[in-house]
Amino acid sequence: MLPIIAEVIAIGDELTTGYRLDTNSRWISQQLCDLGINVMYHSTVGDDLKANVDVFATAAERADVIVCTGGLGPTADDLTRQAIAAMAGVELLLFDDQLEHLEAFFARRGRTMAPSNKIQAHFPAGADVIPNPEGTAPGIEFKTTHTTTPATIFALPGVPAEMKQMFFATVEKKLMTITGVGSVIHHHVVRCFGSGESHIESLLPDLVKRGRDPLVGITASGGTISLRLTTRAESVERCLEKMSDTQVTIESILGDLVFGFNDDLLETVLVKQLNDATATLTIADFGLHGDVASMLLKAGGNVAGTASDGAADKLTNQEQVIAKAQSVLSESEANCALVIGNVNRSEDAIKNGKSQFWVALVCDGVEPVSESFSFCGHSATRQVIACKRVLNFLRLQQRGRNRPQSRA
Ligand code: AMP
Ligand code: MG
Repeated sequence: MLPIIAEVIAIGDELTTGYRLDTNSRWISQQLCDLGINVMYHSTVGDDLKANVDVFATAAERADVIVCTGGLGPTADDLTRQAIAAMAGVELLLFDDQLEHLEAFFARRGRTMAPSNKIQAHFPAGADVIPNPEGTAPGIEFKTTHTTTPATIFALPGVPAEMKQMFFATVEKKLMTITGVGSVIHHHVVRCFGSGESHIESLLPDLVKRGRDPLVGITASGGTISLRLTTRAESVERCLEKMSDTQVTIESILGDLVFGFNDDLLETVLVKQLNDATATLTIADFGLHGDVASMLLKAGGNVAGTASDGAADKLTNQEQVIAKAQSVLSESEANCALVIGNVNRSEDAIKNGKSQFWVALVCDGVEPVSESFSFCGHSATRQVIACKRVLNFLRLQQRGRNRPQSRA
């Protein structure tokens, strides 16, 4: 089956003027993605009939599914129903049951319906009603017949709460019928650290491919690379079965780059490792403002930390950080000591690749280990990525090789 192409359309002058942020399109796209529907286009259009007709005509030719929000109110600037009718060359018809529904809605609230609301009981000929349990604007489902291939339009109100309620109550199930797959969606996220997004993608050439089932999506945030597996089937068990081969392949190819799954963070995984090994860690941080210790503490770690960025000690090479870690350990109750050396934060050093910093870990009864990392990348992310590099170093050390032994 060919992938289903979708377009999301946001309608309203408040959006095109920049007065309001279009959060609906983002939310809808996330839902469509979860359903395995390929959102290829986002369009935003003001409250103008001709512009709306043009946008719908274009969308109906290039997309199979169109989800739009806005323009279903009773006022003169709400033109979505007129635009769909004009685009398809059909009449707007009064749906009697919808008129009764509207009148009852106002009666229940002790109000009389304004004449302008009557337009909300009008639908393009051939349309189906998408009920709106808590508002006056019903949505419209309309299937084109004049286009090269049929496109299904779901028009929903702009008010986010109404839009979401109607999406879950009606539209989601209809979309599942269109995609023709079972009704359970399952995600599994594999979290990786230690390599770039494109490198990880190149290691998995056939997996990160559109239209694959399970679908594997790749995203990067603060140096963490996430592979998101999505599949659909008639039951969760069947979804898990469908995913297992892909999971095994990813984990065996990426090996130690994989640090966890779903909501795992480097620090939560590391805290668990430390606890399992009954390791207690003291951190003397001369370069990263104490952030590594903060991250571990926040994750519930048994960690003590001092941040000494301004200290007189200058720890800029391997021997210095190891010696410092040994002296910190000897003065501490903890069974492991981590020292983070000084970081040269000058833009010059960063630009010229001269901003390496050293890290050493010394644990009772185990040979010291150390490594240098670069402090680099975009100014908004280099600090957090540097901290994660240190956490990842600890994770890899902790993995089997360097468990602390009890003090003799
Ligand atoms: P409408 O259905 O066009 O009458 O829109 C009703 C209200 O919903 C607007 O006044 C906005 O406050 C809000 N709204 C409309 N479209 C969006 C959108 N794309 N994202 C977020 N809010 C929206
Ligand atoms: Mg509007």
